[in-house]
Amino acid sequence: MTDYRHILVAVDFSAATEQLCTRASDLAQRYAARLSLVHVVEPVVIGPAYDMLPELPFDVEEELRTRAEAKLAELAGRYAIEPADAQVLNGLTKGAILEHAEANGVDLIVVGSHGRHGVGLLLGSTANAVLHGARCDVLAVRIRE
Ligand code: AMP
Repeated sequence: MTDYRHILVAVDFSAATEQLCTRASDLAQRYAARLSLVHVVEPVVIGPAYDMLPELPFDVEEELRTRAEAKLAELAGRYAIEPADAQVLNGLTKGAILEHAEANGVDLIVVGSHGRHGVGLLLGSTANAVLHGARCDVLAVRIRE
């Protein structure tokens, strides 16, 4: 087996994030691999049923992105990850993670077995989708409640 050279951790800022980053950082050290972080902000869709909502005084997606950038930068600092290797992406989570991984020569994607969705399932929906769609190895770190 060849060594991993670029490990990407997909983080959703749930309670398991620290566990994921610690595991991935440990692997990156063993393989002397580059370590990257990614978080995806999905489009916020407000349907016709919400016509009566007053116009919000800020752009929700932009606000989520700004907050995610701050959290990701803080996480990157703690794990000695280059700022350029900690990116917030806009899009649908599965596709954005996979595209980013392919475009950046990632050979191992690390996800939690569960995040904000899918507790009670064997694998959460994102973990499952990444596992099925990835062209590289995927490590689903077992998240225990
Ligand atoms: P889920 O399958 O959605 O319960 O989440 C499982 C794992 O997918 C999480 O532990 C994260 O590793 C990853 N994940 C979920 N949502 C996101 C997101 N918005 N951005 C990046 N990674 C995510």
